[in-house]
Amino acid sequence: MQIFKTKTAIYKYVLNQKKAGKSVGLIPTMGALHAGHLSLIQKSKAENNFTIATIFVNPTQFNNTNDLIKYPQPIALDIKMLENAGCDVLFLPSTTEMYSTDESWDYNIGELANMLEGAYRPGHFKGVTQIVYKLFNAIPATTAYFGQKDFQQFLVIQQLVSYFKIPVKLECCPIVREYNGLALSSRNVHLNAVEKVNALVLVQSLNFIKQNFYNLPLNVLINNAKKMFIGLNGVSLEYLEICDKCTLHPLQSTKPNIGIALVAAMFGNTRLIDSMILD
Ligand code: AMP
Repeated sequence: MQIFKTKTAIYKYVLNQKKAGKSVGLIPTMGALHAGHLSLIQKSKAENNFTIATIFVNPTQFNNTNDLIKYPQPIALDIKMLENAGCDVLFLPSTTEMYSTDESWDYNIGELANMLEGAYRPGHFKGVTQIVYKLFNAIPATTAYFGQKDFQQFLVIQQLVSYFKIPVKLECCPIVREYNGLALSSRNVHLNAVEKVNALVLVQSLNFIKQNFYNLPLNVLINNAKKMFIGLNGVSLEYLEICDKCTLHPLQSTKPNIGIALVAAMFGNTRLIDSMILD
């Protein structure tokens, strides 16, 4: 696997691949890789001649400094995992490679910036669009792969791509879970044994909604799912909503193929999110 650290070098390299008629798949990550990230690599490998992963812990998308400081960065292990997965190229830039000191970013995210994740993490999506725009410019990929795990982020990136008319296809891929249903996340390493058990309430509440979607009114579904968080020590629910999967507005009635349930909660000092499409 080749490793590039500068935008100029990777840009030239990708352009040459595309000139040679090769399709290029891109998987942006913040590292601390797990099987969820690797599923995106596998999808890209199956669909492209060439696969590029990026690892960059993007400071502008962290609204909580402590979260940034303690974000796991096992880079040697990540490189091994990418090599074993057959990833062709890793883009591993420094912060100074991606940002100048006096930079501002004014892209108007619109209402998605203020709902759900946007409401609980002010400025988060501004940082996300800022870095993804830079990555798409440096790496003119054919297709970029993202996880449904960060569903709202995917919608924001779709909007960014459409606004700037960036010539890249986007794919939203299924959530990879542990055997017990817990969605894989780089932040799971911060959970202690009790928090890890408590965190199962995320998938359990989503499963409850999915299983009863056609049997109970939406408000009853949400209220009963929220009750599952009550009494769990050190757990605080931030939001649990059933939304239209195009707009993220609260779903008004039970209809097939347009709903998604989204949840976020704190487990001690660790914030986790999860979601489930309600087909
Ligand atoms: P991150 O490194 O957390 O920024 O995630 C990089 C990409 O991997 C994003 O598109 C995430 O949505 C995706 N991802 C994270 N966790 C999972 C998972 N459990 N299953 C599938 N994709 C995931």
